[in-house]
Amino acid sequence: MKKQCVQVDKKKGEQVRKVLMEKGSLDTTVRIASDEQYIYIPLISDADLTELLFEDALVTEHEFMLHEKPATLEHMLGYMPRYEVIGSIALLESGETDLERAADMLLQVNPHIRTVLAALSPVEGEFRTRRFTFINGENTTQTVHREYGCRYAIDMEKAYFTPRLATERSRILEQVKDGEVVIDMFAGVGPFSILIAKNRPSCRVIAIDKNPEAVKFLRHNIALNAVGNVEAIEGDAKEVVRNYAGIADHIIMNLPHTAQEFLEAAMVVAKPGTVIHYYDITPEDDLYPTSLSHIEIAASRAGFDIDPIATRIVRSYSPHQFNVCIEVRITG
Ligand code: SAM
Repeated sequence: MKKQCVQVDKKKGEQVRKVLMEKGSLDTTVRIASDEQYIYIPLISDADLTELLFEDALVTEHEFMLHEKPATLEHMLGYMPRYEVIGSIALLESGETDLERAADMLLQVNPHIRTVLAALSPVEGEFRTRRFTFINGENTTQTVHREYGCRYAIDMEKAYFTPRLATERSRILEQVKDGEVVIDMFAGVGPFSILIAKNRPSCRVIAIDKNPEAVKFLRHNIALNAVGNVEAIEGDAKEVVRNYAGIADHIIMNLPHTAQEFLEAAMVVAKPGTVIHYYDITPEDDLYPTSLSHIEIAASRAGFDIDPIATRIVRSYSPHQFNVCIEVRITG
């Protein structure tokens, strides 16, 4: 059947599919089509295309085939468990009941899943790690996750990683231009740094993390993705920044909850024109103003002004709290 769709180069297909999916514009009743050069992503009839600013993407029509219906997890279990897939590991969220049955079905329906874990704790502590319990499959917390053409080796118990920030990372990449200097103050195993480095080979990326285990995986991932333009530095971002005064074009501050304590350090590497990508967890009735004023105060103490350029909700964090991103340009 013929349907309205977005035609985009195959290399950008996954990025565009994810954005359409998040906007609720993807028609999941038919199979995505492709030819040698393009991918054709089907749209629902009243798709909101107002903000679909993908370079080289074209809204057109194409032939699509209906999906044959495989047995779904929801159908097999009678409910949909909350879980996410990281590499070959399925992680069931805490609070899920009947873990053994859910794990059994997950292993049956998804051939890529080899391990099922359940979360025993929220993300916690200085290094933002979680504790897990093994449910079924191969007993491991290590895997390799693929995202936007990069691979990340991870030990989920030893270092932070979430696939839920994939779209956010690609949003930051789109803002980084060739030749710029990026300082990733809380780099973890490297998903922001490596994505940027791989797609902008002329950029210099300085990736800092205090967790020695995260830096071990970061170094491994730099090699795995063959990126020669990331410097991995183990240490406290507050101290490390002193070696990079005034050189950053972009500063990524992905340490929600405590990023505020590092604003003074961020101002050390900032210069007029620097863009700060600041992540925070904020209440629904004060999504941006308080965080923005923290940035403004730190900037003014360092003799700068700020020009706010974007604010957005990245994802919901708890019933009345959100993970937000605030982007400001340093001026003055
Ligand atoms: N940006 C990575 C990502 O998206 O996967 C990791 C983000 S995680 C929320 C925050 C990271 O900050 C953790 O890896 C933690 O070890 C690191 N961290 C905490 N305190 C730090 C500090 N004082 N200096 C540098 N890194 C720190």
